Formats: sequence, C-alpha cells, structure tokens
Amino acid sequence: MPFEEITRPRNICSNCGKAMARSYKESLCPDCLDDMLYPKVKDYILHHSVTEMEVAEHFDIPLQKVRRWIRDGRIEYKGFRHDN
Ligand SMILES: [Zn+2]
Repeated sequence: MPFEEITRPRNICSNCGKAMARSYKESLCPDCLDDMLYPKVKDYILHHSVTEMEVAEHFDIPLQKVRRWIRDGRIEYKGFRHDN
C-alpha cells in the first residue's frame, strides 16, 4: 500500500466528515463550502447595492447559486435589483 494511502486513507470533509472524491482538492465538501460562504454573501448584499451578477463575480461563484440562495430564502434582500 502506498504511503499516502496510509496517512490519508480517505478524502473526507474536515467539517462534516463526508467522503469526497480523491481528486477533490478542497478540505471542505461543496455543501460545507456553501454553508461557510452564504453568510458572507448575505452580509455583502445587505451592505452593498449590487446585482446578482455582481455578487456572483465578487465571490467567484455561479450566478445560479446566488439566485438559488435568494429564491430559497437563504438570502433576504428586499431591495435586490434583478438583471433581467
Ligand atoms: Zn462537509
């Protein structure tokens, strides 16, 4: 067994422990990354007059993710401007 297989038997999320693909390079799984990121996005939107696209570009995340968070009510922003 290669040395790496002994020291890192599994590639798991350092937060929730969920198994991840070995090729996955982040220490947190996508779900945990979202959980870490969305409060920052929420705070950013609350303090800046920005569009969904500007938020997506600022955090380098897909526009669809921003829209999903807003649609799901994870981010509330009554003054939010829509691009389309
Ligand atoms: Zn996780």
